Amino acid sequence: MCLLMSLVRKPLIAPLVLPSVLLALAVSIVPVISETTSELMLGLKQLPYYLLLLVTVLSLVLNRTREAGAALLLIIVYYCIQTELQTPLSQPRPGSVYFLLSLLVPVGLILLSAMPEKRTIEPWGVAVALIAPVLLLVSILILQIRPDLHQVWLPRTGAPTILSSEGFYLFVGAVFSCLLIFFLTRESTRAGIFFAGVFSFATLNWLQVPMISTVMMLGAGISLFAGAISSMLSMLYSDELTGLLNRKALNREMEVLKPGDILVMADIDKFKVLNDTHGHDTGDEVLKLVAALMAEVGEKGKAYRYGGEEFSFVFRNRETDKVLDALQAIRKKIASYHISIRNRSRRPKNHKSGASYRKNTQSSKTIRTSVSMGVVILKEGENPNEALKRADAQLYRAKESGRNCICSNLR
Ligand code: GH3
Ligand code: MG
Ligand code: MG
Repeated sequence: MCLLMSLVRKPLIAPLVLPSVLLALAVSIVPVISETTSELMLGLKQLPYYLLLLVTVLSLVLNRTREAGAALLLIIVYYCIQTELQTPLSQPRPGSVYFLLSLLVPVGLILLSAMPEKRTIEPWGVAVALIAPVLLLVSILILQIRPDLHQVWLPRTGAPTILSSEGFYLFVGAVFSCLLIFFLTRESTRAGIFFAGVFSFATLNWLQVPMISTVMMLGAGISLFAGAISSMLSMLYSDELTGLLNRKALNREMEVLKPGDILVMADIDKFKVLNDTHGHDTGDEVLKLVAALMAEVGEKGKAYRYGGEEFSFVFRNRETDKVLDALQAIRKKIASYHISIRNRSRRPKNHKSGASYRKNTQSSKTIRTSVSMGVVILKEGENPNEALKRADAQLYRAKESGRNCICSNLR
């Protein structure tokens, strides 16, 4: 059996915040830096290499092939700019290298962004991620061996000084496609690719501005690095199935709790029966749904997956009555939610039978679930683990009292 239910909402704005700030910062410091030619500024020029190399390695370790590909592409772009594009673009060699960059960077970024998520850790996914960096590298090597090809690779309009109109539209199209793919998937890795596009567009379109490539590539490197770190933190502290904070995060939170903070243990009722009746996959979908509803508890409460079908909440420095009201609201919301399910074991063999199957199962079956909760308030001098045990005892009382209810010793 499988479940038709609303997608657990993924953050839309959060992955865009830091790179946008870095972009604004980069744009505002370029004019200042470009007028300074101190030793320090010249030393800065090596920094993007180290940072982007670090991002490549870190992303590979974290299985984020997409970002590794983007960081590698940016390293090559930066290398080309530093070694080939420091002379006027009106000359054939820098002109053709610039033309190649304006063509291959947007194509490479679209490939990286459009690659299906699952494929990114498969061998051919890695190959797709490497297409643009490899093509760029090969083209530059060919140019080293056959300098006469410069004339061939130059755009017919002659040597560019800024992005040619084709390059400009290709770049803008690629950047907007990456943004669209991010909006549709809400994968933070796609936000990283979008910003890699924005930073490299700014670099290539305003290449005549001194130090622009260093500042922009540093901006791109820092935003990709932040993406890798946040993915590492989420691997450490979030539950893979539900996306809620995990037990490790709860243990960390327990270390800083103060008397008066409120602890809650919650448990899905008769979940074993639900699993046995509808299957483990449906059970997993119900867990995700319950978690998504719990994440929306008010009063600044944090929801954690304690383990299995058990959850915890922590409310710090909140009024008891308001917390109890918020918990009752979540309990009622979960109990009244109609979860629709469909039979996965009877999957249609082709589109035609699939369409007729869907027609006949329009009124898909729905199931309901509920949770019980136990609530306590941390006492003066009490170990938070002891308080959690008391919350568990209150949860037991709630189960004994018939389930789908909340027991506490607060009121
Ligand atoms: P009660 O109302 O007393 O809590 O009854 P219950 O059936 O919910 O409690 P019990 O402890 O007997 O069963 C818990 C079930 O939760 C058993 C286990 O298979 C299931 N479960 C635990 N973790 C997961 C999970 O990640 N996915 C699924 N689908 N089931 C899980
Ligand atoms: Mg249970
Ligand atoms: Mg349980």
